Amino acid sequence: MKTALLLSGGMDSLCIAWWKRPDVAITIDYGQLPAQAEITAAEAVCGALDIEHHVIRVDCRALGSGDLTGAPADANAPASDWWPYRNQLLATLAAMKTISLGVTHLLLGTVRSDGSHKDGTPEFVGALNVLLSMQEGTMTVESPAIHLSTAQLVRLSGVPESQLAWAHSCHKANVACGDCRGCNKFFETMQELQSDVERLGQPAPAP
Ligand SMILES: [Zn+2]
Repeated sequence: MKTALLLSGGMDSLCIAWWKRPDVAITIDYGQLPAQAEITAAEAVCGALDIEHHVIRVDCRALGSGDLTGAPADANAPASDWWPYRNQLLATLAAMKTISLGVTHLLLGTVRSDGSHKDGTPEFVGALNVLLSMQEGTMTVESPAIHLSTAQLVRLSGVPESQLAWAHSCHKANVACGDCRGCNKFFETMQELQSDVERLGQPAPAP
């Protein structure tokens, strides 16, 4: 079994790198504004864990709207950033690269809160798995953290706090803006982890 992780450099996928130690990690610059910071964070993680890292560049900015593009969200957008079919696209691009590297298992960094979008649900991951595994040889798609909150995943992964700080979560820029959905999620998770430390004197054990 050879595993690959779709590694955006955000908290969730960074923790899965620590938890699952994939053989290969893929980071995709699809035209999002914070792409360079995401690549830098992903490179740092892969360097620390000795993971083979590949960057794929495919400019899809013309197909997105909202925070990640620096433009207003589309009138039909359900959130402040919207790239319809993005997760399907990113998983497909990662599979296109990793199938040639002999990878058999593609890991996605989906967590429970992603379930507010259809493409963050177990049903979506299951459908993607069926679709990818029926083509081009065996490629299984898994989201090992899909039933966990980000804070639970952080605890379970055992990532040192100093290295969690490498994560890049901002949707708007290469330097965290402090006021977008990505930054807000980062701060909320750090607060939740900090409250463990205050209550218990140490991070809570993994579930
Ligand atoms: Zn931000």
